[in-house]
Amino acid sequence: MSELRLSSIETRGVPGKRRYAMVIDLRRCIGCDGCMTACKAEFDVPVGVFRTWVPYKVVGIYPNVRKHFMPRLCNHCDDPPCVRACPVGATYKVEDGGFVLQHYDRCIGCKACMASCPYNARFMLPKSRTYTDITSVVDKCTFCHHRVTQGLAPACVVTCIGRARIFGDLNDPASEVARLVSTLPTQVLRPEEGTKPHVFYIGLDRNNSEFGRAVYNPLDVLEQDRQAFNKNHQG
Ligand code: SF4
Ligand code: SF4
Repeated sequence: MSELRLSSIETRGVPGKRRYAMVIDLRRCIGCDGCMTACKAEFDVPVGVFRTWVPYKVVGIYPNVRKHFMPRLCNHCDDPPCVRACPVGATYKVEDGGFVLQHYDRCIGCKACMASCPYNARFMLPKSRTYTDITSVVDKCTFCHHRVTQGLAPACVVTCIGRARIFGDLNDPASEVARLVSTLPTQVLRPEEGTKPHVFYIGLDRNNSEFGRAVYNPLDVLEQDRQAFNKNHQG
């Protein structure tokens, strides 16, 4: 691959350049959390924070209940408010590929990008990380830039046993993501925000897509499960 050009002000997919995107087929997600685990291992993501997370919601009344899984990550938006919000240019967009990335050495930890992201995709790296200088700065999913620029798929995509996550160049008509986005109905999260997300969902219920946006907390999920169980067994 040719060298990627970086720009702190570019906010549009650039014609003639690669524009990577992810399709998440919710019909195929079984909530195994393999993607979360692979991501944690790939980036040594600390306990309590996530680059990608898979919240779920129990719907229906017993015995007709099922779980809705909702994999979430940074949407690598074409018009990312996080880039505009950063006062020091620590967050920037890569022109060729569309990745939204971080300069850790520039980040001052002000959290302006976190406040501006409608998807809650960003988090602070804890200062307790003693084995690296990268602490107390903001982090998030990179679309596995380091892998993709070497011709590899993101770790979460490789790991997904249901093939619910598909990744590729939207500007390449022969790619699977281009085929899926052009032939199947897809949805993005919060389109009204005007961010032009590049994570496309198949099977998304727009009336039921906000759950799990808050920071993923497994104990909260267990509590929700307990409440759903009790509700379904009342009377
Ligand atoms: S999802 Fe949030 S962090 Fe990712 S590019 Fe969009 S605004 Fe920025
Ligand atoms: S926390 Fe870091 S990346 Fe986010 S706006 Fe502040 S300086 Fe920029």
